Amino acid sequence: MNQFEYVRLSDVTGAAKAISKVANSQFLAGGTNLIDLIKMGITTPARLVDIKPLPLAMISRTAGGITIGAIASNSQVAEHADIKSMFPLLAMAINAGASPQLRNMATTGGNLMQRTRCPYFFDITMPCNKRAPGTGCGALEGINRMHAILGASDKCIAVNPSDMNVALAALDATIEVTGAKGKRVIRIADFHRLPGDHPELDNTLAKGELITSVTIPASPFNKNYHYLKVRDRTSYAFALVSAAVGLQMDGNTIRAARIAMGGVAHKPWRATAAEKFLQGKTATDENFEKAGQLAIEGAHGYEHNKFKLKLAPNAVRQALLTAAAKK
Ligand code: SF4
Repeated sequence: MNQFEYVRLSDVTGAAKAISKVANSQFLAGGTNLIDLIKMGITTPARLVDIKPLPLAMISRTAGGITIGAIASNSQVAEHADIKSMFPLLAMAINAGASPQLRNMATTGGNLMQRTRCPYFFDITMPCNKRAPGTGCGALEGINRMHAILGASDKCIAVNPSDMNVALAALDATIEVTGAKGKRVIRIADFHRLPGDHPELDNTLAKGELITSVTIPASPFNKNYHYLKVRDRTSYAFALVSAAVGLQMDGNTIRAARIAMGGVAHKPWRATAAEKFLQGKTATDENFEKAGQLAIEGAHGYEHNKFKLKLAPNAVRQALLTAAAKK
């Protein structure tokens, strides 16, 4: 069994220092993902820095939108009155994820950091470039039903499993982090990485950087929105494909559209070509079908997941139809 040191801290600077002092340290918050990874021997930290006591559980309105503390639980966010009125797409996506018990424990920062659910990543007897760089990818020629159709590489075809991240991508969230070099802000589009030659890196955080909050700018996508998650069972399952959409409508004309997909790539996949296509168009099934096709431009299926090439555009189309129909 891996022996590790446990440190519990209540100030951000202290937590950042505690991480930098011991190589292979990790932050622990809700633990809904990390504890599983430790128990299964997938990650073996030398030090765990428990950040649950940090004063980062706030959800506060700002001049330009809402800021959510990194420690705010998924339940707290999804049930918050301002989130429900300003960003119901986010509440809907969070409530589509995991179970109520997990949402009570899981945090906003932890959800951003959630690791893939690729079964080969979880099986330490199998090759996996993400878990053990250079060992190969078990999924490429294996059971790849849940895997990516967009942005994958020959090193890794895993997907980001989060529902929350898909809505945050559609809503153009930014992520505030702090580390040895001070504070910085990362656009969500730049936070999660595509696998390329380094699938072991899920995101662009520098070593030791701590997520402190997420800010969502005010937007007009709180009336005509929808999060559609297609999964094998209706509860407690990861998405085969999901679509987070928002429309700014003027009568039956689309002024602006936001579309992001989950279950299709190593990061939440923003469908900007489809968004541009819809701008100024009428809300018709024909236009939504075309948007769905544009959303998967360049997609590539593997042996067991070619069904996603039909499922993903249909999910986008259906989510858009549902969003447009909201009065
Ligand atoms: Fe590992 Fe990625 Fe391949 Fe899955 S898809 S086995 S996570 S390298």
